[in-house]
Amino acid sequence: MVSASTGISQELLYQVGYEVNKRAAIVVPQDGLTAFGNAWERESKPLAHFILGKILENAKLAVADARPMCGDTGLPRYYVKVGNEARIDGGFVALERSLRRAVADVTQDIQLRANRVHPLTRKNPGNNLGVFAPNIDYSFEPDGDWIDIIAVHKGGLFGTDYRMLFPADGTDGIKRFLLDNMAEFARRGLSCPPVVVGVGLGGTKDQAVSLSKEAACLRLIGNRHPDPDVAVLEEELRELANKTGFGVMGVGGDTTALDVHIEIAYTHTGGMPIAISQFCTAYRRAVARIHADGEVEFREDPLWFTDYYRREGID
Ligand code: SF4
Repeated sequence: MVSASTGISQELLYQVGYEVNKRAAIVVPQDGLTAFGNAWERESKPLAHFILGKILENAKLAVADARPMCGDTGLPRYYVKVGNEARIDGGFVALERSLRRAVADVTQDIQLRANRVHPLTRKNPGNNLGVFAPNIDYSFEPDGDWIDIIAVHKGGLFGTDYRMLFPADGTDGIKRFLLDNMAEFARRGLSCPPVVVGVGLGGTKDQAVSLSKEAACLRLIGNRHPDPDVAVLEEELRELANKTGFGVMGVGGDTTALDVHIEIAYTHTGGMPIAISQFCTAYRRAVARIHADGEVEFREDPLWFTDYYRREGID
């Protein structure tokens, strides 16, 4: 389909951007299905057990009918990881044009709800496009000639919050923020648990928020951070979130969080910024790699958080 001399073609980028966007809307990833199934099996509250069964049934019906698995599109977005040796015919402008076209076409073809509007006038172009929409975030990887395109449909209205903690707040402060975050969004009816909670800890304010969203959306459920201290805290926060007893859709139950993922960034010595994002019951993500020879490989694991992406020193 392409030759290495010209690079990955704009048309192929469009086709893959279209396919992952469509799959994300329809097909619940396998790690989500497994986690919902496990939650259904161990749920002790009858209503929560019933709803979890319906969530699993809905996931099957969405695939059978080739229709979106949630009526609320959320906000479609892309994460793109680019190998350092990858070449794109037309460059990154061609890539972004392809992804924007894909969002507009998928919105029309599978009747995604057009959620993106002007924030003041509420004008709706009807295609989930607009100023800074869709979000496209990038990361890079050495020694690769491929491009990974990850589509996420992130429930848009709830779950993300930020707080500036200080070093003396310690893990107690982190736990307090998690409980405040979960209670606040449940109280306002803006939560659709069970969720995957992403925590961005450290960095700058904007990094904390971005990392929390990536942590929620771009790691498989059950995956643990390589730093053992962080991994222990992930387990503690998951148990704490489930002790709230909010349960599926807030009806009361054993599973409120399918998992908690923490990503850390080195931060100012005087502070401990923290952000939380919740990836809702509409667990929507699809991943594909485009190789330099045009071969396309779909897979489950986003492989977003590589050793290189989390590097500490110069290299
Ligand atoms: S929060 Fe998630 S599950 Fe709830 S309506 Fe929005 S997209 Fe659907």
